[in-house]
Amino acid sequence: MARTYDQNNVFARILRGEIPCKKVLETAHSLAFNDITPQAPTHVLVVPKGAYIDMDDFTARATDAEIADFMRAVGEVARMAGVVESGYRALSNCGPAAHQEVPHLHVHVVGGRDLGRMLKTA
Ligand code: AMP
Repeated sequence: MARTYDQNNVFARILRGEIPCKKVLETAHSLAFNDITPQAPTHVLVVPKGAYIDMDDFTARATDAEIADFMRAVGEVARMAGVVESGYRALSNCGPAAHQEVPHLHVHVVGGRDLGRMLKTA
């Protein structure tokens, strides 16, 4: 069943300029800004400018240009933050089991400290 994109989610409002963000990078199809509650010295969110709920929606409907732009933006953000050598995590929470809070696709780029193992047992 097709899901409906919530036009009033917080990242849609940031993209429309209705609420501020600390912009890190803007490209033709993507925007990156600092997470408001950083979990590490580097914690940047990369979002596509288009209205996509999550990775499933994005990879099913986005154009090749949007997908290429988005993935390059993730890499560029990590380079700009200087975390490539030390290492970083790029992750996207998608849907209920992953506790996605904001229903607009975003990749967290997190680094600047040891991040531990990705998943701990419940
Ligand atoms: P997720 O659980 O993957 O959906 O993560 C949503 C992220 O959005 C969280 O890390 C929040 O801290 C972050 N967030 C929520 N509102 C804002 C905002 N206005 N500006 C920047 N980051 C935000």
